[in-house]
Amino acid sequence: MATLQGIAVSKGVVIGRAIVFDAGSRRMPRRTIPESQIDEELDRFEAASKTAIESLKQAHERAREDMGDEAARVFLFHLGMLQDKELVAPVRAMIRDERVSAEYAVSEVFGQWERRFASSSDSMFQTKADDVRDLADRLVSTLVGAESGITGDLSGMVVISRDLTPSQAVDAGRAGAAAVVTALGGPTSHTAIVAKALHLPTIVGCPGVTRKIQSGDRVIVDADTGNVLVAPDKKTLSDYRRIIELRETYHLTLDELADLDAETSCGVRIALHGNIEFPDEIADVTRLGGSGVGLYRTEFLYLTSRTEPTEEEQYTSYARCVELLDGAPLTIRTLDLGADKHTQSREEIPERNPFLGCRSIRLSFHRIGSFKTQLRAILRASRLGPLRIMFPLITSIEEFRRARLIVHDVIEDLADDGEPIDKPPLIGMMVEVPSAALLSEQFAREVDFFSIGTNDLVQYTLAVDRTNERVAHLYQPTHPAVLQLIRQVIQAAQNHDIPVSCCGESAGDPEFALLLLGLGMRTLSATPDSIPALKRAVRSVDIRTCERIADKALTLDSAPEIATFLRDRARKIVPEAFDGRSAE
Ligand code: PEP
Ligand code: MG
Repeated sequence: MATLQGIAVSKGVVIGRAIVFDAGSRRMPRRTIPESQIDEELDRFEAASKTAIESLKQAHERAREDMGDEAARVFLFHLGMLQDKELVAPVRAMIRDERVSAEYAVSEVFGQWERRFASSSDSMFQTKADDVRDLADRLVSTLVGAESGITGDLSGMVVISRDLTPSQAVDAGRAGAAAVVTALGGPTSHTAIVAKALHLPTIVGCPGVTRKIQSGDRVIVDADTGNVLVAPDKKTLSDYRRIIELRETYHLTLDELADLDAETSCGVRIALHGNIEFPDEIADVTRLGGSGVGLYRTEFLYLTSRTEPTEEEQYTSYARCVELLDGAPLTIRTLDLGADKHTQSREEIPERNPFLGCRSIRLSFHRIGSFKTQLRAILRASRLGPLRIMFPLITSIEEFRRARLIVHDVIEDLADDGEPIDKPPLIGMMVEVPSAALLSEQFAREVDFFSIGTNDLVQYTLAVDRTNERVAHLYQPTHPAVLQLIRQVIQAAQNHDIPVSCCGESAGDPEFALLLLGLGMRTLSATPDSIPALKRAVRSVDIRTCERIADKALTLDSAPEIATFLRDRARKIVPEAFDGRSAE
């Protein structure tokens, strides 16, 4: 039995037979054509582009049905690329000037773009390599008349592939695949977003997987931990069957929780909210028992389109959220672009250190026009139901004041335009850099609420890039320094009687959540999928126990020690959440 390790991007545990796709390269051999055939070849390319445009429109329709409007925008983005002169004109030029076949020109020109994107140091640019390859595949297979990629009945099978484009991920889901493992890819790629939206257990970035696994091999995909077990022995198989069984029973019992309150055994109400990237995810939040949206990451509307979304487009998304939430609270975070969430090709000058660069609220100040457009859309939507505005990456009080002043300017503009905002929304901030946490007392006098973003707070406190797998072991949410900062923020909020929540990934981890409750946190916002397990933990514990957990954790002096302690406690409080997995 061999164990391969990758990055889990969509959770689940599956045992199945492997089917290996795409072990080879897609490069086409160079075929020279006579001069008299150049026009014909250009026509072939034109026809293939038209067919690809049609099939992309269909893919977009199918994806909308399966994943909702917003996630399906990936395909609109592909359509835009195919109509982009910068990408397509060099293909025509190559056919004409070098007298080569259309498929060769496509594979060369798109291949160059793919390599350029893949070698970028910016992870958001890197993910575009998948999109370019997806388009090249589509064009080349149309030109050579071959089926592209993942087809047929894949019921219960584990798709193993060098890489998977977003449309192939949709195809795999449609064909009934039980899980996907790819050699390439990162956690922020479009493929990862699609896999999550489809609830398809997926591991990416698993080196050599297409060589080490053959079609027909039995594999266990543990997309909770990122492990792929090849040809497992009897004991491992039966252990995993048991894990799957327990997981199913546990999930069934979780389903029953959706309509119950998130209330501790001593009667304290906890608000469990969802983090969303697309309005359609609100259906998941509600189905899974969440009572609002604590973080709407609005940047995804930008990342899935080529041009900046208009005020109307943004308003439509925000208004839809308010409508879907039907009176439940919504916190809209203004644009958090930059660093790991970058729009391709929009940046004039790449930054040397984008995580410390012109990202987030700084970028909004840099592009006041766009910022005001977004605020207009948010403020207009605030007339339809409860909504709060939250600024990301605030590092100083002047920054917060400046951002709030701009909101007030926009409220005045709207009044001048005959669209008064009678009840202005609450205005709060993310606490996700140490300076904000350290000055939380000062901030708490002026802001309406705090939301702690542990994803960035951990990276900035510990100087660990959250996207760099080489330092992933140093990325420790249970580091004592991080816990001290969180405690400080909660205390400042309590002193000034303002709401505080946590919306980083750690809030979705029941072990960490118990600690947060013990520190006084009463609102957690996490990915919709993690809400049921959080609710189970909340309902299984009383606040006094959580306080004891927090007190003890804060006396321990290392991150691993605290992590082990929290796991131990959680295992006692919600043993069924541990799937029968043995303690480490
Ligand atoms: C965070 O930093 O914890 C957070 C919730 O924001 P994001 O993950 O979008 O940076
Ligand atoms: Mg953040």
